[in-house]
Amino acid sequence: MLRIQKLSTLLSNQIAAGEVIERPASVVKELVENSLDAGAIKIELDIENGGSRLIRVRDNGAGIHADDLMLALNRHATSKIVDLDDLENIHTLGFRGEALASISSVSRLTLSSRTADQQTGWQIATQGTESEPVINPVAHPQGTTIEVRDLFFNTPARKKFLRTEKTEFDHIDELIKRIALSSFGVDFILKHNQKIVRHYRAAHSDRERLQRVESLCGAAFVESALHMEVEANDLKLSGWMAKPDFSRSQADLQYFYVNGRMIRDKLVSHAVRQAYHDVMYGDRHPAFVLFLEISPEQVDVNVHPAKHEVRFRESRLVHGFVSRCVHDALANVRPNIDSFSEIYVPDSTKTQSGLSSYVPHLAPAPVQNIQEKMAIYHKLHEVTENDVALVEASDCSPSVSEKNLLKTQCVHDDVPPLGYALAQLKNIYILAENKEGLVLVDMHAAHERVMYEKLKLQFSNRKIISQPLLIPLMINLSEREVNYIDEHQQTFRQVGMIIERIGTHAIVVREVPDLLRDGHIEQLVRDMAADLIENQKSSRAMDAIDELFGTISCHAAVRAQRKLTVPEMNALLRAMETTNHSGQCNHGRPTWTKFSMTELDKLFLRGR
Ligand code: ADP
Ligand code: MG
Repeated sequence: MLRIQKLSTLLSNQIAAGEVIERPASVVKELVENSLDAGAIKIELDIENGGSRLIRVRDNGAGIHADDLMLALNRHATSKIVDLDDLENIHTLGFRGEALASISSVSRLTLSSRTADQQTGWQIATQGTESEPVINPVAHPQGTTIEVRDLFFNTPARKKFLRTEKTEFDHIDELIKRIALSSFGVDFILKHNQKIVRHYRAAHSDRERLQRVESLCGAAFVESALHMEVEANDLKLSGWMAKPDFSRSQADLQYFYVNGRMIRDKLVSHAVRQAYHDVMYGDRHPAFVLFLEISPEQVDVNVHPAKHEVRFRESRLVHGFVSRCVHDALANVRPNIDSFSEIYVPDSTKTQSGLSSYVPHLAPAPVQNIQEKMAIYHKLHEVTENDVALVEASDCSPSVSEKNLLKTQCVHDDVPPLGYALAQLKNIYILAENKEGLVLVDMHAAHERVMYEKLKLQFSNRKIISQPLLIPLMINLSEREVNYIDEHQQTFRQVGMIIERIGTHAIVVREVPDLLRDGHIEQLVRDMAADLIENQKSSRAMDAIDELFGTISCHAAVRAQRKLTVPEMNALLRAMETTNHSGQCNHGRPTWTKFSMTELDKLFLRGR
């Protein structure tokens, strides 16, 4: 071993660069963040050879004073914080004061800048060596231009890890996309090898912002996206999230920003995933662009050198808030809510007492759209008292209160969102007519969802309605199944089923949820036992209960292939209109779709 000696500035900067400058895109990130911190509203990027030959970032921000140029390239020199209090209250993207020092140690860097009160611009140039940088006057408009040439020319080990020109440029492209998604007011021009590849124009109005989201995330995302803006206490969550019918096989359309800083955070992704849990099929990923605003003291951004992660002081509250906002926005996906045409803004529950008293807001009451144009309806389908009785008795019947609404609101003459049933196709689909055109409903999927939400609602109100079976049902099962059921008696009780073991191979079912009174109970119990065995690793009671609700509602739902009467179909349509998440079945598949007259006309080339 050698004796201890102090490292040269160059070498210690190169070591520091190892942490933050992984590839050309990391240089771009640091430079663009500096431009944003300097208040630039126009940023132009010139990239050559995937960034390994040249990265030039030009901005129209505040500029750097000539006397500070040398300092700007020094490690631990920053204009963004002064003391510990500042560190705990960060409002800028940068604050560590090491990016320029790191970058200049692994490339040939030229920085030109002019502030508003200087007559001329000044330029400082370094060569990635120990030699002193040189400073010269230069013609430059207000703002800053930084040129980084020959990245990693003096650190060959690093250079070896660079991928192809295209791959490196793709990383830069993706990075600019992520930044452009949050800095709507900034005009970005991205050139590769002298060609303009992207131009994101500054977006000021809602429409322009939406256009930017569309150009970055695609038209399909925008079409399916819900806009949300929720504020509670010191927290605000806004942005766009796709309804579950637009999901991805990868988590590649998930953008989350905390106070404008893009982050990848496990806590946050978990919160969002949890909110989509009920409506998204297991291996699918939700898509979203969300912005969390939180007071800077509540979040520590100094936990990762490249600042990809943050730590929330009150992580549980943030988790709960994000999860609830997303969940509630999804719960509002009902037939009458049409993506962008309506912005979901629940009542704010602002209180004075800060984070700790966060009160979850309630989603708007679900009974708002039951309006039957009864007169026409009667004429169309000649509803008799008899039919109404049928609806009440059928599996599809809405709850008593909903039914009363049906009766009392029949004076309104608006057509309900899902319209009136016309017919049933192949005993699988309901065809209905609403104001815009044709509505198609997958009756089993829709009914299953309605049942599921009903059970969950009853459960959360602690009012699962059970019915004792007139004749208790004995079922023979394997010993393993019997053991599982026996162990989970309490779970079964919670979902409204009373089951007892009566032997090593037999159980007896005494009570079942009301919704199931006509269901095939034996098959259901077998399925439930299978679920329990399947999910034995997930010990969480709530997961098990959700799973069981899913199974119960599938069994309780009208089977495809069953003929429904028109009143039964209408009852289902009305129930869907008042049910949370009714746009998707429990597995995230859509339960209904529509064809407007314009779409139908197009099919038939009408009006051309
Ligand atoms: P940090 O951003 O953490 O402060 P950097 O090494 O990235 O550290 O930058 C050092 C300093 O140089 C910044 O604090 C800022 O004062 C100045 N600076 C860097 N880039 C720009 C720019 N584009 N416009 C204005 N000032 C800049
Ligand atoms: Mg910086």
